[in-house]
Amino acid sequence: MKKIAIIGCGISGLYFANLLQSKKIYDYVIYEKKSELDLNDGYGIQLSANSIKLLNEIGFNNIDVKEISFPKKVNFFDAKTSKKICDIDISKFNSENKRYTTLKRSFLIKFLLNNIPLEKIKHNVELMSVEHGEKIKLSLSNNLTEQFDYLIVSDGVFSKTKSILLAKDTSPKFFNSIALRGNIKNLDNNDISLYLGPNFHFVIYPVNQNKEFNFISIVRKKLSKNEVLNKNLFESSEFLKSLSNEIYKKTTLNLNGKLENIKSFPVYVSKKFENFKHKNIYFIGDALFAFPPSFAQGASQSIESGKEVFEEINNNTDTYYKNRRLKINKVNWRSSLNYFAFHLSNPIIILFRNLILKLLANNKNFLNNYLGKIYKD
Ligand SMILES: Cc1cc2nc3c(=O)[nH]c(=O)nc-3n(C[C@H](O)[C@H](O)[C@H](O)COP(=O)(O)OP(=O)(O)OC[C@H]3O[C@@H](n4cnc5c(N)ncnc54)[C@H](O)[C@@H]3O)c2cc1C
Repeated sequence: MKKIAIIGCGISGLYFANLLQSKKIYDYVIYEKKSELDLNDGYGIQLSANSIKLLNEIGFNNIDVKEISFPKKVNFFDAKTSKKICDIDISKFNSENKRYTTLKRSFLIKFLLNNIPLEKIKHNVELMSVEHGEKIKLSLSNNLTEQFDYLIVSDGVFSKTKSILLAKDTSPKFFNSIALRGNIKNLDNNDISLYLGPNFHFVIYPVNQNKEFNFISIVRKKLSKNEVLNKNLFESSEFLKSLSNEIYKKTTLNLNGKLENIKSFPVYVSKKFENFKHKNIYFIGDALFAFPPSFAQGASQSIESGKEVFEEINNNTDTYYKNRRLKINKVNWRSSLNYFAFHLSNPIIILFRNLILKLLANNKNFLNNYLGKIYKD
């Protein structure tokens, strides 16, 4: 039986483990640096039809639909006036059982953990070094050395394994933006609401059928190196208060007092797509490439990359990185363009942007190209 090591127990690593679990011709183990996974937070995640299709293959279509939501539209608003600009019908890209889905990230993780035997996950373990020849030899932080046939690297945007394997600094770059997220309850809109403001945007969407919603705002901010690295700053109540007040002041939507469990963190993105040449070592998810968070594709692409590596190993092909690079390019420029368009600040340019948005929202060819190529291909 071929032995596979997975580094990191996030969406990509767990999805990949589910594929291995379903095939039962591989022995595998997941190394996770944290002592436990957070299975209780209420923050949301959006999954487009491309990843729902792949999740259904491991039983996602059997879950309790009360725990997920199926928004049909993205409604665009001007944050300052709360006036609607236009809407895009994302349900056009759905097919039976493959619908654009929003849910709590913790619910997705619980679903992915469901089929994985507990003993397969080794907590509090990190990779220290790798020797690769015929077999891949891992030295681990628990002082053990283990041998594997394949190594799957899924340890997220700050992937330490990436710098170990590529023997250089591969740290991501601060995207000059801060994410502020929280939960809201009891709204009356089951679609995705996207509010565009100068130098920020925020998105509100349902995470289940219980009237619970996710709030996520991306605020453009230049910070010094020390500030970005200062975890206490992002957790301090003064900082959270001033950041939320900054948003409340810039929108007529009344959010004050409605957001719960507010948290903030700096947004990091990958500097470039690296050259990966190691035989039988595969990077997936954010460890491979992390996008700007303005196209909501990170988790979906993490799942797609896991599926592609699984196929590559099963079929003994050598096309994963070539094809993945093409897909990543497509998602990355769309994410960057969205970010640019969502954050415009010049009133005249904003007028043009809104006009163009209205035209594009009704242009079938554009939507098929811009969204369909990602959501359906
Ligand atoms: C603000 C924001 C909003 C987002 N919203 C969305 C959205 O709506 N839709 C969407 O599709 N995507 C979204 N994303 C992106 C998405 O969350 C990520 O792309 C996705 O979670 C990546 O999954 P992953 O498994 O690759 O990495 P992660 O989820 O980061 O998991 C990595 C795991 O590896 C572990 N680990 C780290 N280092 C080590 C180590 N050295 N050894 C062992 N284990 C290690 C970590 O503890 C963690 O458990 C968003 C991202 C941001 C920043």
